[in-house]
Amino acid sequence: MNLFVSVSGGLDSTALAILMAENKKAKFIFADTGDEFPQVHNHLDNMERVLNISITRVQNKKYSLKEYEIARKFFPSPRARYCTRIFKIKPIEEYMEIFAPFQLAIGLRYDETGRTGNISDYAIYPLQDKKMVRDDVYELCNDYGLVPEYPWYMSRGGCYSCFFKSRAELLALAKHEPKLFNDLIYREETIQKSRGDNYLMFDRFKKNPLRRVKEMVDSKIANFEQIPMTYNTGQCGIFCRK
Ligand code: SF4
Repeated sequence: MNLFVSVSGGLDSTALAILMAENKKAKFIFADTGDEFPQVHNHLDNMERVLNISITRVQNKKYSLKEYEIARKFFPSPRARYCTRIFKIKPIEEYMEIFAPFQLAIGLRYDETGRTGNISDYAIYPLQDKKMVRDDVYELCNDYGLVPEYPWYMSRGGCYSCFFKSRAELLALAKHEPKLFNDLIYREETIQKSRGDNYLMFDRFKKNPLRRVKEMVDSKIANFEQIPMTYNTGQCGIFCRK
């Protein structure tokens, strides 16, 4: 049975990788949507160096998330979360199939018992087996100097286009990462050409299109509160990061 370890770039899967690093047969795997922050890639590089492991990066074979959105004229959302399925789970499953039979170790903590992500047929949960809760995974990552660094205004990583981001995080993105935010504007306006101006990437801005949001940020009409730099317990996805 081949053993894979899902690495998302977040705290929990980093702790999982630390636990599994001594198993020389374990294969570490990360799925890249194309919307990852540079800090996530840096963190993966650091993990490889500190833990002396190799992390295989996989992607959807046909599209990046951005290309798929534009081709389908459809943004992911909490109700239509195709991003995780098509750009995280599917590339990982396709890669593992080459090595079947396999198991996949996933970084769900003991205080998250009950979340299995509907993949329980091949998934194992070593953090839960060791009864590791949030403080334990933080301490372990800290001991190895591997607490993930997200952009300071983000309470967690995940795609820069992620619909789970708070309004404050998106406003901060507009202010501090104009290039990334302009990319979101481009995506929204490209799809609006087919679906109309009322079709928005985020519903957090009270029907303001992203270009207007950027104008408000630039003219200081819109402001954002400081994002607390604490370890966020919110859930994004077992293949994303939190
Ligand atoms: S981080 Fe957000 S947008 Fe990216 S795959 Fe996960 S849920 Fe989807």
